[in-house]
Amino acid sequence: MQYTWNDIEQHIAACTQCPLGQTRNLPVMGRGSHEADIMLIAEAPGAQEDQQGIPFVGRSGEILDRLFRDCGLSREEVYITNILKCHPPGNRDPREEEKEACFPYLKYETFLLKPGIIVCLGRVAAQRIISPDFKITRQHGTWTYRRNCMLTATYHPSAILRDPAKYDEVKRDFQEVVSKRSDLMR
Ligand code: SF4
Repeated sequence: MQYTWNDIEQHIAACTQCPLGQTRNLPVMGRGSHEADIMLIAEAPGAQEDQQGIPFVGRSGEILDRLFRDCGLSREEVYITNILKCHPPGNRDPREEEKEACFPYLKYETFLLKPGIIVCLGRVAAQRIISPDFKITRQHGTWTYRRNCMLTATYHPSAILRDPAKYDEVKRDFQEVVSKRSDLMR
């Protein structure tokens, strides 16, 4: 059976496949264009996302929007999602069993979107999507090619909140993403 975007959203809304289904306020489905070439994947919703049910609405979202503005991107032309669709209490790292339970939703999102470019935001996403030993400090901005898709990773916007000096590094990584997308469109 082939699921639609709506089917996935309904499954996530009712999901109790891991304990986070009991503690979340609202599940956070991915948002953005279903025609996007670029898919951004972070690790999990934060506290404000949990309240509003929308990814990247807190201070990290403000940083992401600034990066988009500086690189000529917009939320409307990308698709943004998380590995976990529910907020881990206290913003702790997602547990292995939670990531495994939630991963099928991300697979369906990827299957339906068929992005040309995947950008992992932060260590947790990069290690789950690109390689278990991915080192975000050394390897951000590098590229991997897999089944008609180019994959890269950069710091999560929350890392810029902790260390504003990282902004320019992340901006360069996003500029390269925009450049690769231009190549795709040729
Ligand atoms: S985190 Fe994922 S698997 Fe766990 S309850 Fe939420 S939607 Fe279901």
